[in-house]
Amino acid sequence: MKEFDYVIIGGGCAGLSLAYELEINEKLKDKTLAIIENRKEYKRDKTWSFWKVFDHNFDDCVIKSWNNFTINTSESSHELTNKKFPYQSIDSGKFYNKIKSKLSTNSKVSFFKNLNEINLENSKIFNSVFEEKIDKSKLWQHFQGIEIETQKKIFDEEIINLMDFNCDQRNDVHFFYTLPFSKNKALIETTWLSDLEDQSLMDYDLQLENYIKNNLGIKNYKINFTEKGAIPLFYPSLKNDNKIINIGSAGGMTRLSTGYTFLNIQEHSKYIVKNIDKIYEAKIFNLGNKYQFLDKIFLRVLKKHPEKMPKIFLNMFKASSNTIIKFLSNKSNLIEDINIISRMPKLIFFKALFN
Ligand SMILES: Cc1cc2nc3c(=O)[nH]c(=O)nc-3n(C[C@H](O)[C@H](O)[C@H](O)COP(=O)(O)OP(=O)(O)OC[C@H]3O[C@@H](n4cnc5c(N)ncnc54)[C@H](O)[C@@H]3O)c2cc1C
Repeated sequence: MKEFDYVIIGGGCAGLSLAYELEINEKLKDKTLAIIENRKEYKRDKTWSFWKVFDHNFDDCVIKSWNNFTINTSESSHELTNKKFPYQSIDSGKFYNKIKSKLSTNSKVSFFKNLNEINLENSKIFNSVFEEKIDKSKLWQHFQGIEIETQKKIFDEEIINLMDFNCDQRNDVHFFYTLPFSKNKALIETTWLSDLEDQSLMDYDLQLENYIKNNLGIKNYKINFTEKGAIPLFYPSLKNDNKIINIGSAGGMTRLSTGYTFLNIQEHSKYIVKNIDKIYEAKIFNLGNKYQFLDKIFLRVLKKHPEKMPKIFLNMFKASSNTIIKFLSNKSNLIEDINIISRMPKLIFFKALFN
C-alpha cells in the first residue's frame, strides 16, 4: 500500500484549508499528501460567515461583506456599524472549487475514499472526522437556512440581522438570522440552541415559512438553496493520540458560545503549516483558555435560563462594535473582556461559576 508524508482525514473545511495552506506555502514540493474524503461530490452545502478580523485565503469566495448589523428581541432593537471588521459570507461551493483546482495541479496530492487504501505508518496525520456517537442530550446549535429570491426588491442589502429573537422560544433559545445578498436575495436561517432530543423544534420548514410571511411580510419567493446543520456546543471527546492532530470541529475549533468555526480553522491551518516540520513537538493549538472558561459559564447560564438569553445577547451587543466583534472572534484584550462581562447579569453568572 502507498505511503504518504501527510495524511488529512476528511476533506471538508478544515482538511481542504490545511491542504491549501500547505500547497501555497510550498510544503508539498517534495512531500506527498493523501486526503481521505468519502463524500460523493463537492457542491455548495454551507455558507460560512464570520467577522474578518484577519486576512484569509478566500476573499474570492466571498458572496458579500457587510458593515452593519442588527440584533433584536420582541421589545427592543439595536444596530451596530463596523468598518474595520466586515462580516463576510463564503460560498462553500466556490471554496471547494478553488482548492480542488489548485491541488489538481500538484501530482503529489491524492484523494482517497477510504483510509484502508493507504499505509499510515510513517505519515503525519491530521484528522477532521468525529468518530464519537452523537450525544443528543448535550447542547447543540441546530438550524436550517434557505436562500430565497423575491421578485420585488425587498431587502436592505447593507444590513444583516444577526439575531432576531422576536419568535417562538418554546423554552429554549431560538432566533432567526438574515443575510441579504442583494435587494431580492437573502439567506434566512432558523437557529436553536438546545439539545437534539426535542424533535418538535425541528419543524424548520414551517418555522421559516411563518417567519418569512409574518415577520418579513414576504408572500412570493422561490428557494434557491437549503442548508441544514447541527454544530456541537461542546468539545469532542476524541482520544489524544499523539500521532494524530485533530483539526476543524473535531480539533476544538468551534467557539462554543457562538458556533463560529471557519476563521479559527484558517488560523489553525496557518499555525500547523508554520510548525509543520516539528508539529508533534509544537504546543497544541486552542482558542485560548479564557474563552473556553467564559464560554463554559455562558453556556451553563444559557441551559439554566434560556428565557433570559435574548436580553443577555442584546446587552452584549450594546458594547462598542469593535469590542463585541473582537470578543466573539477570540481577539479581545482584558479591558474588552471586562467590558463584555460587566454587561452580564451578575448574580446568575456568579452562581453559574459554582455548578
Ligand atoms: C450548514 C452549516 C453552516 C455553518 N455555518 C457556519 C458559519 O456561518 N460560520 C462558521 O464559522 N461556522 C459555520 N459552521 C460550522 C463549521 O464552520 C463547519 O461545520 C465546518 O464545515 C467545519 O469544518 P470541518 O472540516 O471540521 O468539518 P467538515 O467541513 O464537515 O469536514 C469533515 C469532512 O469529513 C468527511 N468525512 C466524514 N466522515 C468521513 C469518513 N469516515 N471518511 C472520510 N471522510 C469523512 C465529510 O464528508 C467532510 O467533508 C457551519 C456548519 C454547518 C453544518
